[in-house]
Order: sequence, then structure tokens, then C-alpha cells
Amino acid sequence: MLKAPKSLAQGRHYLAIPGPSVMPDRVLQAMHQPAPNIYKGGLVDMVETLLPDLKAVARTKHHLAIYIANGHGAWEAALSNVLSPGDQVLVLSTGRFAHGWGDMAAKFGAQVEILEFGPDRPADPARFAEALAADHAHKIKAVLAVQVDTSTSVRSDIAALRAAMDDLGHPALFMVDCIACLACDAFEMDAWGVDVMVTGSQKGLMTPPGLGFVFFNDRADAARDRAECVTGYWDWRPRSRPEMFYQYFGGTAPTHHLFALREALTMLVHEEGLEQAWARHGALARAVWAAFEAWGQGGALRLNVPDPAHRSHAVTTLRIAQSDSDRIQDWVTAQAGLTLGIGLGLDGAGGTDGAFRLGHMGYVNAQMVLGALGAIETALIALDIPHGAGGLSAAAQILAQQG
Ligand SMILES: *Cc1c(COP(=O)(O)O)cnc(C)c1O
Repeated sequence: MLKAPKSLAQGRHYLAIPGPSVMPDRVLQAMHQPAPNIYKGGLVDMVETLLPDLKAVARTKHHLAIYIANGHGAWEAALSNVLSPGDQVLVLSTGRFAHGWGDMAAKFGAQVEILEFGPDRPADPARFAEALAADHAHKIKAVLAVQVDTSTSVRSDIAALRAAMDDLGHPALFMVDCIACLACDAFEMDAWGVDVMVTGSQKGLMTPPGLGFVFFNDRADAARDRAECVTGYWDWRPRSRPEMFYQYFGGTAPTHHLFALREALTMLVHEEGLEQAWARHGALARAVWAAFEAWGQGGALRLNVPDPAHRSHAVTTLRIAQSDSDRIQDWVTAQAGLTLGIGLGLDGAGGTDGAFRLGHMGYVNAQMVLGALGAIETALIALDIPHGAGGLSAAAQILAQQG
């Protein structure tokens, strides 16, 4: 007699949290080598090839400093190069991550004001313009925006926010966090007029956590001359224009992260192509939304962001009773080999209230997304959670229309 299985999770596990994202086997294998010489030779030559590829992903011809750091380190690096104690900083918040960056500015002694736009809609350029217009004396030195807030999965219109600043001729630096979405959602640093952009290695860039990137233009670099928060380690100037190789990283290079990054950029920039990666993320995101919209009909769950134009292509936040969210997360892990992202701070207090998140960033293809959605649909059935029918086939319909 064939026994009923205790679990169907045996097989390749899928970590579908919004970062760290899935790493390609090629990226993992690229790290499997002995320590290289950090003074000359292959590593030194290879790092030179990373810079144009990273700038191509950021769509900038300006400067880049690389840090051995996660996203929080990149936040601090960017702030330290432009702020002085007492500076006014305006934060545009569409979720928890904007607050994190703003808190860091406050620790540098900045006077931080937060414009809150709520958890389910983008930063409103008109309200932003009002706040800027009230600043007659141009006391605001920097505006901090997050393109995609990973807690809410809201995507703001960075070009429209910049236009609000330009219309008023406001001279503040425009600083954007693209940690969640670079290489997933379209982003154009130079064309959109972004002065400083920060990102990390472990989301769209398919590389282990541990590299932080700060891109900046000449306006931002001029602010660096006046900034009193610049420190020896975080100073972006030697890193962006090193006279000696070791200055790129302020010491020993993060050798194996760099091997991994080289392989990931080869895949992203030279093999798939950045715009193709954007298109892939767009199609996969629309499939995810179609499934959740179908399940939401007469059901207990809904997409956090009502307007598709304001949803990220890198991560999707679902609203659902927390008890159901917990049961679904536990079920898909134990029974289907899938790990979902926890809900994060939608109640404004940092709790894990009434949500879960599905990461679809980086090295993700149609069968992975369909597999994740299929596992969720199976959990809804197994746990008897009310939901509309046809989520998985709605996703398949979207993907069938591609290519
Ligand atoms: C992940 C993330 C961060 C934080 O990055 P860490 O590497 O965890 O420090 C900051 N902002 C956004 C938008 C993110 O998605």
C-alpha cells in the first residue's frame, strides 16, 4: 500500500522573500576559488570591468563608490557625504524603509521632516511641491525618496518627484533608495535627474548581501566639499577616484563578492540585457497580480496597492488576516518547499500585521513564479481559506500572452 506523504517539500527549495534573492548557480560557483592577490593581477583588472556595467544598470555616467556593506551601510555612506549637523532633510515615506533612512539622517544631527503618503499609494508630487514651496529660504538640503518601499511594495514616480523640484527651482539634493528594485523596475538616474542613488547587491543584482553601492553626480560631489559628516571610511571620494587599488574598498577588497558580482553582471547586462530584465520582471509581476486579484474575489485577501501603475515589479505585498498569513506561510514551507516574506510594518508600528510578501526579484522565471502561486493556491484550498477561483490560470493567461 502506498502511504500518504507527510510532506511534499522535498526538492529544490524556493526562497521567495524580497531579498536576499535567489542566486544563480553560476554566481555561487564563481565564488568557489582560492583567495586572489589583492595588489595586482586578475582581480584588479576585473574590478575595472565592474564599474561600467554597474553604471549601465544605474543608467548613469557619473560617479560610483562601492562599500563592503548592506543597504543600511549604503544609506549611511550616502548621507555622510552630503550632510552637516543641523541640515534639514525631507523624507518622502511610502513605508517603513523611508523611516529607516530618515532615522539615520537624524542620528547625524539632521533635522528630519517626514511627509507620510500612507502604505498603499506613491509619494504625491503635488503634496511634495507644497512642502518644498513652503521652504522659501531653501533650508532643505536633501530629499530622501524610496523608489520601491519593500514593506508596502509601492513604487513612486521618481521622474515626477524630480519635476516638482525643478518646477520650483529647489536646490536640495534628490537622493533615491533603489535597494529593492534596481534592475527589476525601470530606473534612469541621469535622465530622471537623481543626484544620489543607493542600492545593494542582494536583490535585483543576484549577489550575496554585503556590497553597497552609492552612485552620485557632480552636484552631490560638490556638496561633499561642504559636508561635515564625511568620515575617513565612508568618504566616497577616494573610492570613486582611487589612486591605488586598495582605495576602491577602503582596505582589502571583498574578493569573493566581486567574483559573484562579475558573473551576475555578465548575466544581467551582457546576456539578458537590462531592458529585457525589466520586461521580464513586468510580465512576472502582472502574473502575480492576476492570481491575487482572482483569489481576492469574494475572498479574504487583497493586493496592498490598488492601482497597478503604482505597484513594484520586484515584490508584491498581500493584505490578509494575520492568522491566515501565518498559516499560509507555514503551510507552503512545510508542504511545498516555498518560503514567503513576512509582512512588515504596514500598521506603521513595525509589526508583522496582516500581510505577507512575495519577492519576484532577480533570478526568477515563469516556472518559479507559477510554482510559488500554485503553492499558495494549494495552501488556500488545504487551509480552507475563502478565495476566488482561477488564480493560477489567470496568471497563466498573462504569461501566455508574452513572447
Ligand atoms: C532591503 C532594503 C533596504 C535595506 O537593505 P539591507 O541590506 O537589509 O540593509 C533598504 N531599503 C530598501 C528599499 C530595501 O528593499
